[in-house]
Formats: sequence, C-alpha cells, structure tokens
Amino acid sequence: MSKLIIANWKTNPLNIAEGIELAKASDFPNVVICPPFPFLNAVGENLTNASLGTQDVFWGNLGPYTGEVSWRQLLELGVKYVIIGHSERRIYLKETDELINNKLIAALNAELKVILCVGEPREIRDKGINAAKNYVEQQLDKDLIGIENCKLKNENLLIAYEPIWAIGTGISDKLEDTIGMASFIKTLLASRYSLKPLVLYGGSVNAANAKEILSAKEIDGALVGGASLKPEEFQEIVKFSTALRAYAENLYIKHQS
Ligand code: PEP
Repeated sequence: MSKLIIANWKTNPLNIAEGIELAKASDFPNVVICPPFPFLNAVGENLTNASLGTQDVFWGNLGPYTGEVSWRQLLELGVKYVIIGHSERRIYLKETDELINNKLIAALNAELKVILCVGEPREIRDKGINAAKNYVEQQLDKDLIGIENCKLKNENLLIAYEPIWAIGTGISDKLEDTIGMASFIKTLLASRYSLKPLVLYGGSVNAANAKEILSAKEIDGALVGGASLKPEEFQEIVKFSTALRAYAENLYIKHQS
C-alpha cells in the first residue's frame, strides 16, 4: 500500500519562484505539500499530482478575526489537508488543546482532512515509553473532544505522532517505539471512537531512515520538515513509499535530465 508523505515547509522558502520550483520537484501522488500561506495559490496552481495542505487553520468563518485565515478561504484555494496542533505552534504560539480542538472541529465540519500532531517532550520520554503514551493519550483526549458530534468521516482524521525532541534534531525515534506508539494510538481511537485513522510519524525523517520507517506496516506515512526542502532527499523519501517506487524513479530521472 502507498504511504502518505506530508511536506511541511514551515516559513520556507524565501519567495514564490523558489516555492514553485520546490513544488514542481515534489509533485508526486500521495504527497501533500504544506507551504506557508502566502505561497498557497502559486503552489496549488503548479501541482498536478500532489495535494495542497496548510500548516494551520482558524476555526472561524469569514469575519472579524484579524490576522487569521479561515477554512472557507482554504477551501476556495483547493486546500485538502490541514496540519493542526503542530508542536511548534503549541510552543511558540502558545496554542492550547482547547484552541486546537476548536480548529479541529471546524476543519472536520468543513470536510478538510485534518493531520492532528501529537507527541511528548524530552523530559517525558526520559521517564519511559509508557509515560510518553500517557502524555499522547491526554493530548488526544483533549484535542478530540466532541468529534462524535461533528461531520466526521474516518478518512478525514489523520494523526501524526511527532515526539518533540525528534523534530529538526537529526535524531529520529527508535523504530520499535514508533511502531508501539502507532499501534497504541490506533487501538485507542478504535475503542473510543470506532475510528481507524492513518497514523504518520514525524521527526527527522530523511533519505537514510525513510525506508525503514515506511516499511513498518503500522506506520501509514511520514510528516517531513527539513528534508522536504531538499528536492533530491525528498524524492528519495517518496521512493520508499512502496507502490510509488517505480513512478517516483521515473520522475526523478526526468528531473535529473
Ligand atoms: C516537522 O516539521 O513536523 C518535522 C518533523 O520536521 P523535521 O522533519 O525537520 O524533523
């Protein structure tokens, strides 16, 4: 089965021309490209295979919400996926579970596909994998309040397990622990909500470790930050998404020639 690869560009690149170039080099099926808001339109216009996503969404409709971007506007631009609750937003923008929950409910009701990010900080993981599971369970409990009452399609909720200490550090989680966490999340959501979400892993995924991570049947894909800004490395990651292998190799050769 193909795995889903999410490219989280964060506040990169510098300008639209570079964004378009990067988008064209990353335009594979089963890839979701999440550029910064100012580049959404230009990137969307240059994608034929990949889907368009964002790194955030506001919960409100059109109205007096200075500085925010509404799910209504994202739908207009052809956005299909939204990342919600990324740890960088939880830390630097002080996003609370309550705010994340409001965004998630609004996005699900808008029939956007939500990639909800959860994951523990270093000091929790240092207490052991069970402490990390407890932490993630509490995040899920709070972030998913009320989902049974919203317009919920199973395929519209995806969970990205991203241990905070693994993001942008070059140190990815041990595979056995990621597999254990993915299974834990799946069991939890099946028993509580009868959901079978795709569970992705994020945290220093690169060309060297992607094959091992994406080969695990419990892991349905990867959320990629730094490596999504390096076209050759990103294409290597996409290649390991098994069913896409031949296709990606073809496109890779085309880009090289
Ligand atoms: C991320 O942005 O969520 C992420 C996992 O980044 P990186 O791949 O650079 O660790």
